Amino acid sequence: GGAAEPPPRLVLDLERLAQVPSEKAGPLQRYAATIQSQRGDYNGKVLSIRQDDLRTLAVIYDQSPSILTEQLISWGVLNPDARRAVREDDS
Ligand code: C2E
Ligand code: C2E
Ligand code: C2E
Repeated sequence: GGAAEPPPRLVLDLERLAQVPSEKAGPLQRYAATIQSQRGDYNGKVLSIRQDDLRTLAVIYDQSPSILTEQLISWGVLNPDARRAVREDDS
């Protein structure tokens, strides 16, 4: 993408996230619940998160941001447009 393009939004689907087995999704489920609690944002079906949060989650999952992004997209938990965020930002 061009430099003038805004970065993609990272949007978690909270209903799908609740359906992923917690052996896989536990850390992300706890992370999202913490953000909801800090914001007082409990009623949403989706949750917009920070670009930085994806990097933090990659550390938690011991994976590169791009591998984690593919995993979350394959679970149906993250919007596919989020790929652009790691492509522009990976190192
Ligand atoms: P904070 O980072 O000091 O942000 C204080 C307030 O600034 C937030 O209160 C929110 O009203 C606003 N704010 C900061 N960054 C953004 C942003 O990128 N977009 C929007 N729309 N508003 C922003 P809020 O929402 O009650 O959050 C309270 C605290 O909870 C935040 O303090 C932060 O420590 C934590 N938090 C909330 N959401 C997130 C998140 O998505 N990721 C992380 N890492 N922390 C979050
Ligand atoms: P959008 O970003 O495409 O979000 C569409 C709808 O998804 C939102 O409608 C809301 O129902 C839901 N949604 C997205 N992120 C969150 C989240 O973190 N928590 C919750 N509870 N719901 C979320 P809504 O609220 O009527 O907003 C319509 C549009 O207004 C948004 O479209 C966005 O373009 C703008 N908007 C709303 N809040 C913010 C904000 O904090 N910052 C910015 N820049 N735009 C916002
Ligand atoms: P958004 O509200 O449309 O914010 C878009 C970008 O503007 C943010 O990307 C961030 O780079 C910048 N920004 C907005 N408000 C602030 C602020 O108060 N302080 C700083 N330092 N930067 C700000 P980012 O961080 O990737 O966040 C993406 C989206 O995640 C935000 O879109 C918002 O929907 C949500 N979000 C992130 N942090 C918070 C938060 O603390 N509280 C709430 N309510 N929403 C947040």
